[in-house]
Amino acid sequence: MSNKTLAILKPDCVRNNLIGKVTAQIQEAGFKINGLKMVHLTVDSANGFYEVHKERPFFNDLIKYMTSGPCVPIALEKENAVEDFRKLIGATDPANAAEGTIRKLYAISIQENIVHGSDSDENAAKEISHFFSRKELLDNNGWN
Ligand code: ATP
Ligand code: MG
Repeated sequence: MSNKTLAILKPDCVRNNLIGKVTAQIQEAGFKINGLKMVHLTVDSANGFYEVHKERPFFNDLIKYMTSGPCVPIALEKENAVEDFRKLIGATDPANAAEGTIRKLYAISIQENIVHGSDSDENAAKEISHFFSRKELLDNNGWN
């Protein structure tokens, strides 16, 4: 899975009408879209997705934010996808994000930071299957 990653355009991205701009920047950086949908996460689904953060002090606020409106998960493909995508989005806190990165351009705060990117190949595989069945993906080896 080293060429796959999961992005989520978070609720602030959707609310602020930035889906088009952010998606264009992702595609212009060489990522191919294998799956894309708009969903409103339930608390249960968000808890499952962010399970690794459940002991962190910001966990409850994170769940509130991620369930505050629709978001757009996108299954992406590119050589070295996980690392290249995290470079494209920039640091978690937009104040520390490099010039030209998506978070530097559009994020409001360390919490409302526009976009998610998987942090490892293993998590990319899990996260893609959190949102997409095999049939919903372009790269499903002819199972449509
Ligand atoms: P993501 O997993 O969304 O790509 P990340 O890997 O850069 O972000 P994580 O440490 O995994 O950062 O945190 C997950 C999300 O939790 C962040 O993207 C942000 O929305 C929120 N978050 C992280 N740290 C804080 C914090 N100190 N205060 C508030 N919210 C935070
Ligand atoms: Mg993370």
